[in-house]
Amino acid sequence: MRFFDYLDGTLCAEAVPLAKIAAAVGTPVHVYSHATLEHHFKVMKAAFGDLPVHICYAVKANSNRAVIATMAALGAGADTVSEGEIRRALHAGIAPQGIVFAGVGKTDQELRFAIETKVRQINIESMSELERISTIAAELGQVQDVCIRVNPDVGAGGHAKITTGKASNKFGVSQDLAEKLYGLADQMPGVRPVGLSVHIGSQIIDLAPMELAYQKLADCVVRLRTRGLDVFRLDLGGGLAATYDENGIGPDLAAYGTMVRKLVGHLDVELEIEPGRLIAANAGVLVSRVIVTKENGGKSFLVVDAAMNDLIRPALYEAYHQLLPIQQARPDAALTPIDVVGPVCETGDTFAEERLMPPIQSGELLAFMSTGAYGFAMASTYNSRPLAAEVMVSGDRWQVVRPRQSYEDMFGTEILPDWL
Ligand SMILES: *Cc1c(COP(=O)(O)O)cnc(C)c1O
Repeated sequence: MRFFDYLDGTLCAEAVPLAKIAAAVGTPVHVYSHATLEHHFKVMKAAFGDLPVHICYAVKANSNRAVIATMAALGAGADTVSEGEIRRALHAGIAPQGIVFAGVGKTDQELRFAIETKVRQINIESMSELERISTIAAELGQVQDVCIRVNPDVGAGGHAKITTGKASNKFGVSQDLAEKLYGLADQMPGVRPVGLSVHIGSQIIDLAPMELAYQKLADCVVRLRTRGLDVFRLDLGGGLAATYDENGIGPDLAAYGTMVRKLVGHLDVELEIEPGRLIAANAGVLVSRVIVTKENGGKSFLVVDAAMNDLIRPALYEAYHQLLPIQQARPDAALTPIDVVGPVCETGDTFAEERLMPPIQSGELLAFMSTGAYGFAMASTYNSRPLAAEVMVSGDRWQVVRPRQSYEDMFGTEILPDWL
């Protein structure tokens, strides 16, 4: 579901023509739809019915503070994976009690910051991390709530690079070790074990691997309770897919809710989920202008002013993004195969190969659809290209939520050594 459609032949974000935004702030520009963000939060929430669930928006998918604040206003918490993300979440209005801190390599400094901030929960990924958290918290005279992240040895997701739940992945600890750590944590001065967490991958459509993982989590809860340990929270992770393909199918959220209820509904635990992509992907588009069209080696190329530094998913994951001309093509327009590429000096800077496109000329505008998650968030200034502007739309209102980076901001803080 997304609120980007043609109105009178021109592609709009909600009620605002994208061409108007492009004319005002230039291209490339990431445009987010407030209504789409809200919609996805609400359908996610609705899928759980009356189950007690705390939705922690995974900030890494799109960390613009306007996006996080949109989630905060809906009552969401935040799933964070660095001190920077915790700071962003706080700045965007998410209370410490709504913030989960996860990640496989948290430094002592980050842990201390999280503990001092009194975040809701830290998800533990190793024995040493557990010990470090207890030590730091005890030093501060605090007791930190923790979940142990179980690696259920179940892989899932749209690409090998985004699978996180296999035993051979770097994430979490085995069920056996998780249960052992839980018992140890119970005896440590600086931590209180409250539950278990799992996150097996991203862009997951098939619910079967999730079901398997949640079943393993539920089994762990029963075994821990048999040992007399208190378990009252389960963090079910993120990973539900967004629909990128125009005809594509997404995960069945009602079925997801039913599955969760069946597997953990009877355990009397509070639940957390950490959707990122599902919330943000379809809430964003990247608007770009065609610089030039050219023929080479029998192929046709469309060179646009967005590049892999603005949207790396196609280069990194072979990801598919629908491409729409801002001026709607005539219904009878002939489609021809064309490679859509950016200006960066790498062949990997290719958005689409042999994509069937209507005729399109230099100077025209194009939208890469469903770029709201892992789009700007993964942007860089490679090739010394400034970070693109970000805009949020709500109804007929729109506002720049991050201006295009200036050259001064890009390299003005670099320092030439004295000897030069
Ligand atoms: C990346 C991540 C998420 C969000 O994943 P999505 O696929 O964007 O929903 C949630 N939890 C953890 C621990 C993550 O690392």
